[in-house]
Amino acid sequence: MANRSLWSLSGQFIHHHHRLEVFLDRLLRPVERVTKGPFFGCQMCGQCVLHSTGMVCPMNCPKNLRNGPCGGVGQDGSCEVIPEMGCVWVGAYQKSQRLLWPEEIHDLRPPVDWSLQGSSSWINALTGRDQVVSGCNGQPDSALEVINDHER
Ligand code: SF4
Repeated sequence: MANRSLWSLSGQFIHHHHRLEVFLDRLLRPVERVTKGPFFGCQMCGQCVLHSTGMVCPMNCPKNLRNGPCGGVGQDGSCEVIPEMGCVWVGAYQKSQRLLWPEEIHDLRPPVDWSLQGSSSWINALTGRDQVVSGCNGQPDSALEVINDHER
């Protein structure tokens, strides 16, 4: 709880000091690129959702889908756009089930905010900028809520 408050206070402080935010973003961007790039194929979307996608970067999906696969996954799990590669979402689901938080794969993630492209997702997470969404208020947080509603 105390850590959460400290995180939130730091984020607010940084957000209210624009020059500091820009400075930290410039400082951390290359660090994020060289650490997450090789490990996760990070495309620097600035709005990281790895935690809820089995640590598989959804920005490697040719359609940049953030909430599961399209309808074109091959029977063998291949991508319909680039058939020689496996569907990113098949891998994301399988890996998510090996984590301690397997249910997070069902979280509904907001659409990509392209204005954050190239910025540090760490700073955006700290300031809460990555949580700013439009048109999503009042929507369910989990795909399971939608599925369960339909089954009633
Ligand atoms: S979701 Fe975005 S920030 Fe996270 S690894 Fe993928 S491109 Fe990078």
